[in-house]
Amino acid sequence: MTSYWCSTALLPSGPAERVLVTVEDGRFTSVEPNADPGDANVLTGLVLPGLANCHSHAFHRALRGRTQTERGTFWTWREQMYAVAAALTPDTYYALCRAVYGEMLLAGITAVGEFHYLHHAPGGRRYDDPNAMGAALIAAAGDAGIRIALLDTCYVAGGIDQGLNHVQQRFSDGDAAAWATRVSLLDGADDVVIGAAAHSVRGVPQDQLGAVASAFPDAPLHIHLSEQVAENAACLEAYGRTPAQILDETGFLGGRTSAVHATHLTDVDVGLLGSSATYSCFCPTTERDLADGIGPSVALRDAGSPLTLGSDSHAVIDLFEEMRAVELNERLASQERGHWSAPELLRAATVGGHQSIGFPDAGALEVGARADLVAVQLDSVRTSGTGGTVESAVFAASAADVRDVVVSGRHLVADGKHAAMDVAAELATSIAAVTR
Ligand SMILES: [Zn+2]
Repeated sequence: MTSYWCSTALLPSGPAERVLVTVEDGRFTSVEPNADPGDANVLTGLVLPGLANCHSHAFHRALRGRTQTERGTFWTWREQMYAVAAALTPDTYYALCRAVYGEMLLAGITAVGEFHYLHHAPGGRRYDDPNAMGAALIAAAGDAGIRIALLDTCYVAGGIDQGLNHVQQRFSDGDAAAWATRVSLLDGADDVVIGAAAHSVRGVPQDQLGAVASAFPDAPLHIHLSEQVAENAACLEAYGRTPAQILDETGFLGGRTSAVHATHLTDVDVGLLGSSATYSCFCPTTERDLADGIGPSVALRDAGSPLTLGSDSHAVIDLFEEMRAVELNERLASQERGHWSAPELLRAATVGGHQSIGFPDAGALEVGARADLVAVQLDSVRTSGTGGTVESAVFAASAADVRDVVVSGRHLVADGKHAAMDVAAELATSIAAVTR
């Protein structure tokens, strides 16, 4: 048995003082406020549940700081991203993603939803293990110390009625049936969820989306939705309907589905996501980096679509920044303040996010839950004098204020340092290996 004592901890009922938790077999066996520390490990600051990063393409981290000089759009950025995708092997993919997952752990992220479409060797040649790239991600997450939902992504078209280009051939299994056969060879584990995804209405034709949706009926199901105006225009021209309407008609929407981005939606689209209780996964730091636009987060919430968060391309890995950006973007769009409360945003980053990637027993400090703890310093230069509240964490803290991280009862980050990795050095080495 391990025990931790938190000077302040965020429980499901709200913040509590002097909270003693005990852990057995990776789960909380008691959570007791107003307790003495005894010989427990002491965590100071505000202790939160583990954070869930629900949309990641880990290898995009190699582009950080390298795509900022040219005028362009999402589509010109994508060419730069494809250059990195073309260079990766299972070994370099493992090394890069392990470092990125280490960065996530340091930021308080204890579970990642990895939207994984880089499946095959250059030209689409199969590796001896057809899941070699997925296995590299699972190993990378395990070695860095975070849980992974491997959202194995079907990607079989280069656009609506378009073939695959040379890089995209690495993504494709040929059709949805072959994708499902390959994914069925992957094994989950206690810390590994195997989920399903379709890349988008661009990457999977309408007549194959239903096969993706039904292949793994109990698994999390994710898809990019209406990130770009051009995607909507192509979809309307080809099918006469919006991407969200196509998802509705193909059985893709529902309570295990996450619509990622959900940026350019009609009122009808918002209603479809809300009435089906489909999650809306916003990635605000990527959406602003790629000049995507601002999605209708408040309308989606009010319609019934739960919010989750992801750092997507990892221009930034900081869920505090993602949380407050949802509210701050809404302020820019509406010229009014006060749309999202700190507890609502924290729910998206913790228990709601974990549910959406297949870990419904994580993200809360309660008996029986997975024993994850994230201690945020509220006496740093950023957070001092902010009141020491939940609002301080959401609206003033950054990933750099995460001092301690416990995953399944294991104290993996102490005093801001990863117990087993030099994360900055691993990032430098692994990115140098795949960039010019
Ligand atoms: Zn994405």
